[in-house]
Amino acid sequence: MPAGERRLWWCRKGHILGEIKHVLVGHHRVRALMLYEQSVTLEMLPAELPTLRGRVTGGMDAIQCTLCHAERDWVVGEDALSALLDGRRARLEAGT
Ligand SMILES: [Zn+2]
Repeated sequence: MPAGERRLWWCRKGHILGEIKHVLVGHHRVRALMLYEQSVTLEMLPAELPTLRGRVTGGMDAIQCTLCHAERDWVVGEDALSALLDGRRARLEAGT
């Protein structure tokens, strides 16, 4: 798969900590962060998923880049949350 089609998750210095995939948890399709065992640069990006530190489906604070030690939070369900709010706004505008 070309790199452009992968949803990469970066630290603020431009290293890749992992990638975002949709996985099934029970019957729900949720967004998960596939956290690489070792952060990589774009040049080092493997063609397939490398060894993982873990698969993060909930929120996780202060995930550290193994290259520069910058920390970044993974926030659960931004997409799911906005979908929920959109639905609620639509109902409010419809007056129900
Ligand atoms: Zn980094």
